[in-house]
Amino acid sequence: MREQTNDKDLIQVEHLVKYYPVYGGVFRHVVAWVKAVDDVSFGIKEGETLGLVGESGCGKSTVGHTMLRLLAPTGGQVKFDGVDILAAPERTLKNIRRNLQIVFQDPFASLDPRLPIGESIAEGLKIHKIGTPQERFERVLEVLSKVGLEDYHAMRYPHEFSGGQRQRIGIARALVLQPQFIVLDEPVSALDVAIQAEVLNILKYLQRDLGLTYLFIAHNLAVVEHISDRVAVMYLGKIVELAGRDELFRNPLHPYTRALMSAIPIPDPTLKREQIILKGDVPSPLNPPPGCRFHPRCPQAMPICSQQEPEMQEAAPEQWVCCWLYQER
Ligand code: SF4
Repeated sequence: MREQTNDKDLIQVEHLVKYYPVYGGVFRHVVAWVKAVDDVSFGIKEGETLGLVGESGCGKSTVGHTMLRLLAPTGGQVKFDGVDILAAPERTLKNIRRNLQIVFQDPFASLDPRLPIGESIAEGLKIHKIGTPQERFERVLEVLSKVGLEDYHAMRYPHEFSGGQRQRIGIARALVLQPQFIVLDEPVSALDVAIQAEVLNILKYLQRDLGLTYLFIAHNLAVVEHISDRVAVMYLGKIVELAGRDELFRNPLHPYTRALMSAIPIPDPTLKREQIILKGDVPSPLNPPPGCRFHPRCPQAMPICSQQEPEMQEAAPEQWVCCWLYQER
């Protein structure tokens, strides 16, 4: 099997694993593991946006948080500029972190309600001992202007902003240290559709202007299609398909991707798409099904699917899929 990452990628995620222990019994020892992320690999090229999509609870946010070591990994490697972030000592990690930032779905939760947002944005500069107070203030005004806010906004408090403005503040906060790579964790999911478009356009403009690289995490395929260059589809802790955006939306191969696509509403009421209704619920990551994890819900399941796990294979040029329908046997 060819690797899905290569040396030209800015970020290489290899065999990333994140399990959570479940404690039980009188002595509270580990009785089971929740397999939130189970052997996930992908690379992201410089200046690229990789969309990571899947239903709620599939492990996509856990991938983003573990990549930045906001969560302790169980296994695997995440290389940035050749350095394994997951194994780097604290001092190296502090230097690398300037280049790796995250924007959360709810920026309000990460802003101190007692501080004017200018001070919250400058926090990263203070932690890294960058600039004088005056230089830091000027940098804050610079990033506020980049996200379409005014100088006077720096003196206002988080509760004085709308949801869309708060997300702009979250982006400004991520930008202040001039990072190369940003994890965007459901950045527009809580916003109205019109505001979503504004924030997505800001993100696209910033990417072009500053040469940023994004991992864009979302459950909404239409949003992912709008912003991504390539898309990875996750199901129950694993990537099941990874392809260029156009290839994936024109010709989804994995039965799960096809089912997700069939649920996207078509804006033209004269056109109809047959929706694939999946049977049952998403199984628990505490006890994932053997073989292909999707087999209890898959409309095309075969006997081998419940017995043996398929491998990720390149079924079409640059279109990787993990399914027995496309395996070289
Ligand atoms: Fe369906 Fe089998 Fe493919 Fe899994 S491996 S998606 S069960 S056809």
